[in-house]
Amino acid sequence: MEMYEARRALVLAGRRLLETGLTVGTWGNLSCRAGEHMLITPSGMDYAALRPAEIVLVNLSSLEWTGQLKPSTETPLHAAIYRARPEVNAVVHTHAVFSSALAAARRDLPPVLDDLVQIIGGGVRVVPYALPGTNELVSHALGGLEGRMAVLLANHGAVCLGRSLEEALMVAQVLEKAARVFLLAQALGGAVPLADEDIVFMREFFLHRYGQRQDEVSSGSGAQKDSLRPSEKHMEGETTGGGAA
Ligand SMILES: [Zn+2]
Repeated sequence: MEMYEARRALVLAGRRLLETGLTVGTWGNLSCRAGEHMLITPSGMDYAALRPAEIVLVNLSSLEWTGQLKPSTETPLHAAIYRARPEVNAVVHTHAVFSSALAAARRDLPPVLDDLVQIIGGGVRVVPYALPGTNELVSHALGGLEGRMAVLLANHGAVCLGRSLEEALMVAQVLEKAARVFLLAQALGGAVPLADEDIVFMREFFLHRYGQRQDEVSSGSGAQKDSLRPSEKHMEGETTGGGAA
């Protein structure tokens, strides 16, 4: 039944992508880790009509899948991210307008806002173009994701990671807002990027202190219980990945 809950969460998250304008029609895809497997949305399926039973179960190593429908064409990308990034438990791929504008212009998103650098770890890189579903796209995306929770795929859209599905959705929303703010700021004379040391501080603050519950603060325990809690082991050093190239 735990698997059913995860399938249902993906269906609801897909609807939220549509409702919040982060994607349109059947574009974009979402997944979450399920042990040695992942659960992923099927290829070309309307989010409004998608049912939990139609979410596809895919082996992370072999990419063999079980389900009524074919998994998303970006299945190799999602699986490669889970293999490469143990702290990541959810991946959301969007075709959001302002993120896509930067991707179309092949312009990196500089680290221009506090919330952006807290949740993503710095500016967001655009990686060179590759056709969807190819190994080339996978390798470009993994490179661009180094030390970051998001990447822009040239002329395509965004890939957003999270330690939970909620966090991956939040990454997608914060990225889209920052892309929008950046474009507006360009009209006001140009956005001013944050300093590297401030980015490191903000990221550390987000990972280790932000959102801490009062009972955890007072008891000093329970740090591993909440899925949104930072995993210190995995996230350590992520902030030192350097600025967006
Ligand atoms: Zn796409």
